[in-house]
Amino acid sequence: MSYQIKVLRDVCIGAGTCVAEAPNTFDLDDGDIAIVIDPAGDDAASVLAAAQGCPVDAIVLIDPTTGQRVWPEN
Ligand code: SF4
Repeated sequence: MSYQIKVLRDVCIGAGTCVAEAPNTFDLDDGDIAIVIDPAGDDAASVLAAAQGCPVDAIVLIDPTTGQRVWPEN
Protein backbone atom coordinates (compact mmCIF):
# COMPACT_ATOMS: atom_id res chain seq x y z
CA MET A 1 0.00 0.00 0.00
CA SER A 2 1.33 3.42 -0.93
CA TYR A 3 0.02 6.50 0.80
CA GLN A 4 -1.35 9.40 -1.13
CA ILE A 5 1.20 12.07 -0.21
CA LYS A 6 0.79 15.83 -0.11
CA VAL A 7 3.61 18.23 0.78
CA LEU A 8 2.45 21.55 2.18
CA ARG A 9 5.13 23.51 0.39
CA ASP A 10 4.25 26.79 2.07
CA VAL A 11 4.83 25.10 5.44
CA CYS A 12 8.00 23.13 4.60
CA ILE A 13 11.18 24.68 5.99
CA GLY A 14 13.57 22.45 4.07
CA ALA A 15 14.81 20.54 7.10
CA GLY A 16 15.38 17.46 4.94
CA THR A 17 14.25 14.88 7.48
CA CYS A 18 11.84 13.42 4.96
CA VAL A 19 14.61 12.93 2.41
CA ALA A 20 16.75 11.18 5.00
CA GLU A 21 13.92 8.84 6.03
CA ALA A 22 12.52 8.10 2.56
CA PRO A 23 15.08 9.16 -0.07
CA ASN A 24 13.31 7.44 -2.96
CA THR A 25 10.06 9.23 -2.21
CA PHE A 26 11.10 12.78 -1.30
CA ASP A 27 13.68 15.20 -2.59
CA LEU A 28 14.34 18.90 -2.15
CA ASP A 29 13.84 21.21 -5.10
CA ASP A 30 16.17 24.07 -6.05
CA GLY A 31 14.56 26.20 -3.36
CA ASP A 32 15.14 23.52 -0.68
CA ILE A 33 11.44 22.77 -0.45
CA ALA A 34 10.34 19.14 -0.42
CA ILE A 35 8.81 17.49 -3.45
CA VAL A 36 7.45 13.99 -3.99
CA ILE A 37 9.53 12.21 -6.62
CA ASP A 38 7.78 8.84 -6.33
CA PRO A 39 4.90 8.14 -3.92
CA ALA A 40 5.77 4.42 -4.08
CA GLY A 41 9.52 4.92 -3.88
CA ASP A 42 9.88 3.62 -0.32
CA ASP A 43 7.87 1.28 1.87
CA ALA A 44 4.92 2.68 3.79
CA ALA A 45 6.75 2.51 7.14
CA SER A 46 9.55 4.71 5.81
CA VAL A 47 7.09 7.21 4.34
CA LEU A 48 5.22 7.32 7.66
CA ALA A 49 8.51 7.84 9.50
CA ALA A 50 9.32 10.68 7.13
CA ALA A 51 5.99 12.37 7.77
CA GLN A 52 6.22 11.86 11.52
CA GLY A 53 9.78 13.21 11.50
CA CYS A 54 8.88 16.44 9.73
CA PRO A 55 9.29 19.17 12.37
CA VAL A 56 6.47 21.30 10.94
CA ASP A 57 3.97 18.60 9.88
CA ALA A 58 4.29 19.61 6.25
CA ILE A 59 3.67 16.06 4.99
CA VAL A 60 0.07 14.85 4.83
CA LEU A 61 -0.58 11.15 4.27
CA ILE A 62 -3.90 9.79 3.03
CA ASP A 63 -4.85 6.11 3.05
CA PRO A 64 -5.98 5.65 -0.57
CA THR A 65 -8.35 2.82 0.28
CA THR A 66 -10.34 4.74 2.89
CA GLY A 67 -9.62 8.33 1.94
CA GLN A 68 -8.84 8.96 5.59
CA ARG A 69 -5.93 11.12 6.68
CA VAL A 70 -3.30 9.01 8.42
CA TRP A 71 -0.89 11.84 9.30
CA PRO A 72 -1.03 14.35 10.91
CA GLU A 73 -3.44 12.60 13.21
CA ASN A 74 -5.65 15.65 13.80
S1 SF4 B 1 10.92 17.09 6.75
FE1 SF4 B 1 9.24 18.57 6.50
S2 SF4 B 1 10.23 20.58 6.60
FE2 SF4 B 1 11.82 19.06 6.22
S3 SF4 B 1 12.05 19.03 3.98
FE3 SF4 B 1 10.62 17.41 4.55
S4 SF4 B 1 8.58 18.37 4.36
FE4 SF4 B 1 10.08 20.00 4.45
